Amino acid sequence: MILELIKNFLSPKQACKHEHVGVNCDFGYCPDCGALIENQWYIVKCSCCGLKHKAIVKNGKIVPVNNFCHNCGSEDYTVERLETIDFININYAALIRKETKVSQPQKPLAQCWVDATRKIDEQPLLLPIYR
Ligand SMILES: [Zn+2]
Ligand SMILES: [Zn+2]
Repeated sequence: MILELIKNFLSPKQACKHEHVGVNCDFGYCPDCGALIENQWYIVKCSCCGLKHKAIVKNGKIVPVNNFCHNCGSEDYTVERLETIDFININYAALIRKETKVSQPQKPLAQCWVDATRKIDEQPLLLPIYR
């Protein structure tokens, strides 16, 4: 029980919401846990009349702040991802901070063994043939 508490205290990574990642760039490292975070902006539009609604994040989902469109009364909406955020959309958009992995160039998996005892100028040993 106490061990669990200490564990949770020592590894706050699981609980990190990455709230201190700057919103001015698409990618940033979380100053709290070091994870690479992608800032994803979403807006919500009424699927009936196309009016833009203020979006909020609720239980990890993008939803409009209002249940019904104040323009046409519809409750249907579509969520759109914004490539870039601008000063108009920032008033409507909801931000999801998505943890991403650094995409490292794949190293070839082929390996060869080097015989460290062999001298450079020696003839390379032939591979034994198993019959
Ligand atoms: Zn974090
Ligand atoms: Zn509408």
